[in-house]
Amino acid sequence: MTTAHAPSHAPTEEHVEVLIIGSGFGGLGAAIALKNAGIHDFVIAERANEVGGTWRDNRYPGAACDVQSFLYSYSFEQWPYWKRMFASAEQIFEYTLHCVDKYALRPHVRLQTEITSARWDDSERQWTAIAHDGRRFRARQLIVGTGGLSRPRLPEIPGIERFKGESFHTARWNHDYDLQGKRVAIVGTGASAIQIIPAIAELPQQLSVFQRTPAWVIHKPDRDVSEREQAIYQRFPRLLHAQRLRIMAQLEPRSAAFGVEPRLMIPFEAMAKRWIRQQVTDPKLREKLIPTYRIGCKRILMSNEYYPALQRPNVDVITGKDGAIVEITETGIRTADGRHTELDAIIWATGFQEADALAPFPIYGQDGRELSADWGTSPEAYKGTCVHGYPNLYLLVGPNTGLGHSSMIIMIEAQIRYLMQALAHQQATGVRALDVNADVQARYNARLMKRLDRTVWATGCNAWYTNAEGRNTTLWPGSTTEFEWMMRSFDPDAYTVLR
Ligand code: NAP
Repeated sequence: MTTAHAPSHAPTEEHVEVLIIGSGFGGLGAAIALKNAGIHDFVIAERANEVGGTWRDNRYPGAACDVQSFLYSYSFEQWPYWKRMFASAEQIFEYTLHCVDKYALRPHVRLQTEITSARWDDSERQWTAIAHDGRRFRARQLIVGTGGLSRPRLPEIPGIERFKGESFHTARWNHDYDLQGKRVAIVGTGASAIQIIPAIAELPQQLSVFQRTPAWVIHKPDRDVSEREQAIYQRFPRLLHAQRLRIMAQLEPRSAAFGVEPRLMIPFEAMAKRWIRQQVTDPKLREKLIPTYRIGCKRILMSNEYYPALQRPNVDVITGKDGAIVEITETGIRTADGRHTELDAIIWATGFQEADALAPFPIYGQDGRELSADWGTSPEAYKGTCVHGYPNLYLLVGPNTGLGHSSMIIMIEAQIRYLMQALAHQQATGVRALDVNADVQARYNARLMKRLDRTVWATGCNAWYTNAEGRNTTLWPGSTTEFEWMMRSFDPDAYTVLR
């Protein structure tokens, strides 16, 4: 129920059963589950002026998902209108809007509502969240779905603020800036960059690609989904589920190579090397592009156009010790060899501040403790979802829920099913709050870390998945099926009851 409406203004305080923060796949998925369970007393706080998370923000040229659309969508809301096997960001956003409309979520959404803090009130057994403009939300349950990749990271390179030309991060693309005929640099060669480079390569007079570490890039089995095929899916929706299962069955066994035996990656590595040899004719360039770490340690990238784009006469790959960026000047980039590249624009494809994103604002739990201070550089949760000392708090895409091999939507749905059972348990038993036990959380994470030590991500490649101490705080070491199995039923014994 919403209370205390101030006349003609936004209410200054709303009381709800559940507050969801973020309207990406996580937040919206949770909202749909609440509605399906007959819980309508919830609000979704969204800091932007439109719903949709990463796919609303990441609109750089070429932005698309590297997981097939039939799997990168809710299992309960299969969509027959995908135009490509790997959908564009634009179409994923269209799908998001479809879900918002179909499940009538708009009335629950509070746009331009950036939550700046949330505090657990132990006497009232409820959360109070405060938005940037002072509005308050009181809620029994708090679901944080702010996503791991929402805060752009700019590198700490001396002089970065001095550059006088145009510069922007991939997630904040300046669509008004015309790249045609300009001297452009793109810094970084990760998942975003390899999509952007082929999409823009023909525009600039000169495109300088600053590569610190080459990425493993493999063939992308992408294709158009014809209108005829779409019509068949509309007519026979069960085929959508069959497609989904087929893709899942194809991807799922790969989790063993990531999480159980990194040597199983060797055939993939051979395949990727073949792909480079096939696509890159110049041996010097090829040498620059072959990674030296085990494939899978950083995200495996897929593109059919990346290597051809790098071979265009107006594209230059600057890499190696000599190519390390040492300084940004008013007019360009200086590298370790003393060379200065004159530029009109710099595109930062340098990733996201993932650790901060898990607790993107202060979250105060019992006894005034604060989540990011509790965590330090090692975020951890029980089953990636609940944290001791923070009752009735559920993190979607929380610590160690990320994947290298399949769709995050599967993980999100498993988390949502779990938390919905926790809510149902509270309702059935008349319990006002649940707090996961510290020893349960510690044992869960000790087991997880042991497993992660044996994974491909522990083979040494300095990926963003691990913190400075080498602890992997990001990824799930198993298959999605294993995660679903672990989350299949709520385990009240792991929790302390607060009446
Ligand atoms: P990223 O994978 O973290 O890549 C950042 C790039 O910037 C890396 O090549 C990194 O080099 C480089 N870099 C960072 N600091 C640098 C510096 N000071 N000098 C030179 N280079 C520097 O970031 P992203 O490409 O934005 O992708 C982030 C994540 O988003 C991905 O891992 C993936 O999970 C997700 N994503 C997914 C899709 C999708 O299709 N589903 C698409 C895009 C992104 P090093 O490797 O040496 O650190």
